[in-house]
Amino acid sequence: MPINNQFALPELPYVGLGGVISPETLSFHHGKHLKAYVDNLNKMLPGSGLEGLPLTEVVKKAEGGMFNNAGQVLNHILYFGQFSPTPHPMGDRMTALLERDFGSVETFRKEFEQKGATLFGSGWVWLSADNGGKLVITQQKNAENPVTMGLTPLLTFDVWEHAYYLDYQNRRADYLAALWQIVDWTVVESRL
Ligand code: MN
Repeated sequence: MPINNQFALPELPYVGLGGVISPETLSFHHGKHLKAYVDNLNKMLPGSGLEGLPLTEVVKKAEGGMFNNAGQVLNHILYFGQFSPTPHPMGDRMTALLERDFGSVETFRKEFEQKGATLFGSGWVWLSADNGGKLVITQQKNAENPVTMGLTPLLTFDVWEHAYYLDYQNRRADYLAALWQIVDWTVVESRL
């Protein structure tokens, strides 16, 4: 029985994101960085015992270099997939959940940005749902993903320098604040 041990580079669901993320950043971030993670993962899968598993299961089970590459593939699929140049606004359900768990949408946004801005080095800030449906924000280093903690990832901002340096140089906080303009909340809510 043939085993599919190849992951494909996902296509971007848009050609541009206005002035928030430049075409140059998108080209490098998707076409070079994500492509390298996909290629590395595909080289490591044969013989690993994880062939044929869904990507999320590979991330949960892999270690070392394979975890780093599989994690980065999953993280970037979630990151690129949640943006749109014409994003849908937040719906009533997400608004109610954020108000319940953070007090207000604005408080959530400020905490999310602050946790992204203060993450030392490379990594990701995440909004996830726990098993009880409570929404939580986590800071995670390098290729880490909330699925390894039993959480369901909903929204993520990439704070590796490759995500913002061409457009925002060292102004990571400005990049984080700008990303809200392109978050498609229909996509985020579909992950609940
Ligand atoms: Mn990245």
